Order: sequence, then structure tokens, then C-alpha cells
Amino acid sequence: MALADEAKRVAAQFDFTDAELNAHVQEFLKQMGEGLEKDGTSMSQIPTYVTGVPNGTEKGLYLAVDLGGTNFRVCSVTLNGDTTFNLTYNKVAIPKELMVTDKASKLFAFLALQIENFLKEHHAEHFESHRRRRATISTASGYKEDEVFHLGFTFSFPVQQRAINKGNLMRWTKGFDIDDAVGKDVCALLQTEIDKLKLPVKVAALVNDTVGTLMARSYTSTGANRSTLGAIFGTGTNGAYIEKTSNIKKKIEGEYDESTGEMVINTEWGSFDNQLNVLPTTPWDKKLDTQSVNPGFQMFEKRISGMFLGEITRLAILDMMQSKDSTLFSDDNSSHNDWTTTTTVAGQSGLYKQWGLDTAIMSVAAADNTPELSSLRQELEKDLNIYTPSLEDAHAFKIVADAVARRAARLSAVAIGAIAIQSGLLKDPEAEVIDIGVDGSLVEHYPFFRDMIYEALRAIDEIGIQGVNKIRIGVAKDGSGVGAALIALVAAKMD
Ligand code: ADP
Repeated sequence: MALADEAKRVAAQFDFTDAELNAHVQEFLKQMGEGLEKDGTSMSQIPTYVTGVPNGTEKGLYLAVDLGGTNFRVCSVTLNGDTTFNLTYNKVAIPKELMVTDKASKLFAFLALQIENFLKEHHAEHFESHRRRRATISTASGYKEDEVFHLGFTFSFPVQQRAINKGNLMRWTKGFDIDDAVGKDVCALLQTEIDKLKLPVKVAALVNDTVGTLMARSYTSTGANRSTLGAIFGTGTNGAYIEKTSNIKKKIEGEYDESTGEMVINTEWGSFDNQLNVLPTTPWDKKLDTQSVNPGFQMFEKRISGMFLGEITRLAILDMMQSKDSTLFSDDNSSHNDWTTTTTVAGQSGLYKQWGLDTAIMSVAAADNTPELSSLRQELEKDLNIYTPSLEDAHAFKIVADAVARRAARLSAVAIGAIAIQSGLLKDPEAEVIDIGVDGSLVEHYPFFRDMIYEALRAIDEIGIQGVNKIRIGVAKDGSGVGAALIALVAAKMD
């Protein structure tokens, strides 16, 4: 079979029809409802204790840290009170050996050290003056209350929140696996390590990155409309939206401001349909799941987010290469391998290694529409160590990668569409815009990801052309940093 035909046969398995799309939206709405009623359902629908969104007039200097998956960011944010802000940040990759380790303190000590480095680098004066004066101040921490930085801790893993600055880790996702931390309060884990370093920092708020995205988008958007949903499409995927408290049937523990009649809900939609009632499942989805650290969990996320799309593509491509008589990538680096192992040896292609194909190369594939596919071929050589891939090789790769990403965008539209329906704003003649803030490398860098989402939204029966014209999806840049600062501000006021 010609390579292109072989690739099209594989790509067809990632088709996601309009009928399937609509069935998924109904199932999503159902599982959202179940999550609002009781604990232990597939979508956790976690109350966040955030009962309002900002309007752009908030002011002050706050710290924010973000443990998202691939990187750890530390930043300080000055909110100017006029919908603008200034932000300084450091970003470090999280060492792989700290993602899977025995003691939670190893990871959290590393995080506290990055906060110390950041303060020394960007707020040295403030930091040093504290250090000098510590000896003369008699408070327990050695700092005056008004000298302490309030920090918003963006922690993007499922957490059972108990207050604005308390939350117990339910489970790890995105390749993390530290048993010792499960069930513990992650704010306390971080504060303990901060205190060991004697830093003038108080962990004031626990923030999910989706909530931060929603808050940041609401602060920065200058129009009359506030945002309805904050969504992440990065290493993982998740969303937080504004829900009427009267719809939240399960008990909300602890204190919160009841006057607004609303609360932000962290959906944890990455685990939508873990039981696979509807989700499309190819042989490569199955393999990815079996070989993951959490088989049977985060099944929606495993079909959508940056961490997984490259791996699905790799598994599909590898299968094609292994099929009898296939000529795909038949150079020396890519052939003559021991098919029974997933480890790679020097010189061999990353196609043989689990996680060896970064989703970023799928963006290169999608962007390259030149007759010779020269950027993609260069990238295949550079990134995957494939020796001089032919035009046919690159073309076949592109067909498969595009199909995997397209299905991901259409599945993303399931979540966005269902929440637009749930908001009631589609039918509200007063609501001109349903604003959605998004963040994450996939939605920012994958070409036409948003366009594919819009195209799918249009095909949802309850949305259609009229509805889709109301929906505005905009990138909330630095969402987690600014959002965390905004929630730290709210928390500091409640102190
Ligand atoms: P995080 O979610 O960890 O905060 P990001 O939003 O940067 O961080 O997402 C990182 C994920 O995005 C990784 O899984 C990576 O493979 C993927 N990614 C990075 N660059 C691109 C790109 N250009 N196109 C598509 N995916 C990308």
C-alpha cells in the first residue's frame, strides 16, 4: 500500500463525527451534574471557595508560584488597579527524579528553594532588609505581618479544597507519582519548606490554574463582560467555570461568602468519562493508557493534552513502521531495532522511546504546508533523530499527527460547548458574549487549534451558528500568575 494510503487508514481511526460530538456533549452535561450532586464521581466538580471574579480595579504586589506539570514558575505580580499588571518571573523545569520519589518533602524543598532564588534575584532589597532586621523583630516568623509576601500557590492537580488556603491532594496526574503526598495539605507542605528557609512568605491561597486563568481573564478583559470559563490546554487539560450555588447539591464544607449566589467550580474534566461510556478509543489510546502511571484515570486528558498527543502519534507511527512491507522511516536510525523494548540507544530514533515524541513537533507538522515539507523533515531529523526522512515519510507523519490533533480539538469543544450550554448564557438575550479564557502551549502554539474548536462548536446542536457567534475564546496570558495573585489578594483581605 502507498505510504499516504497507509497513513490515511490510520488517520481515519481518529475521526470524530458531528454525531459523536453531540453525544459527548450530552454525556459531559450528565457527568457535570453528577459531580455537583455527590463526591466520588468521574468529574470531581470541586468547589473552590472563590465566590466572585475581579473587575480590574484590584491593586498590590503579590507572589505567585505555579506547579503545572512540566515547569515550576515563580513570579511577582504588581496589580495596577486599571486592568493592567506588571509581572516578573523565573521558570525552571521540574527534575524528573522529583516527580516520582518517595518523600513529598524532596519536591517541596526544591520548590521553596526556587522561591528563595527568585526573591534574591528580583526582590533582593526587600529580602535583604528583612534578613537584616529579623533579629530585632519579635514575631514568630521574625517578620512583621505587613512585610510578608502573600503568595498564591497554583497547584494544578486534583485537590479536595477545605478553605481558600487549605487543600488535600486527591491523586497525582501528568506523570507525577509521590505516594507520601496523597491526602496531605499541599499548602502546609510548601509552607513547612518555606519556613525552613526562613523566607518572608505566607502561602495565602491555593489556586487551580484553571481558576487562575478565569480570574486573570476577568481582571484584564476591558469589556463589560466577565469570563465564564477558564480552561487549560497544556501538559494537561482542565477547566473552571462559574456555577450557581443553588446548583451545587453536595455539601460545601467551611466558610464562604454566600452573598453572590455563585462559586467557581474546578471541574477536573481531565477525568471525564473514565469509565469509557462514550470516549473514542483506538488501539494506541489503549496502549498509551496501559503503559501510563495511572491506567484507567484521566481518560479525557489522555486524548487531548500536550503530554499525551505526541505519545499517541508515536505509537500509531511505530505500528505503521512495524507493519509488514512498510517503507515508513526505513533509514538506519529508525530500522533494525529490537521491537520488544521501548528503550532507545544512542543514535536510534526517539520514535522507539516512550514519550520520545514531543507534541511540539505536531505543531511543526501542522504549520508546514510547503510542497517539500522541508521544516517538518528538518525537525524529524533534529528532534527524532530520523536520518534524512523522505517527502513521503514526512507526508505520512503529517497525516497521522494532524488527525490526532484534530480529534483533540474536537474533544476540547465538547467541554467548552457543554459549559457554554450549562451557563444558560446562550439563551440569555442580555448576554452578548460568552467569554472564555484559555492558556497552555497546545492552544497557544498549535496552528488553528482554536479554529478547529470553533468549527466543532458550530456543529453542536444546542449552539449552532448563532451560538458560536456569541462565544469568544481568548488567550489569558500569564493566567496562572496573575490569577493566583488576585486570589492571594482576596485571601489576604479575609485574614
Ligand atoms: P504546563 O501545562 O506544564 O504549565 P505548557 O502550557 O507549556 O506547560 O504545556 C507543556 C506541554 O505542551 C508539553 O506537553 C509540551 O509537549 C506541549 N507543547 C510545548 N510546545 C508545544 C507546541 N509548540 N505545540 C504543541 N504542544 C506543545
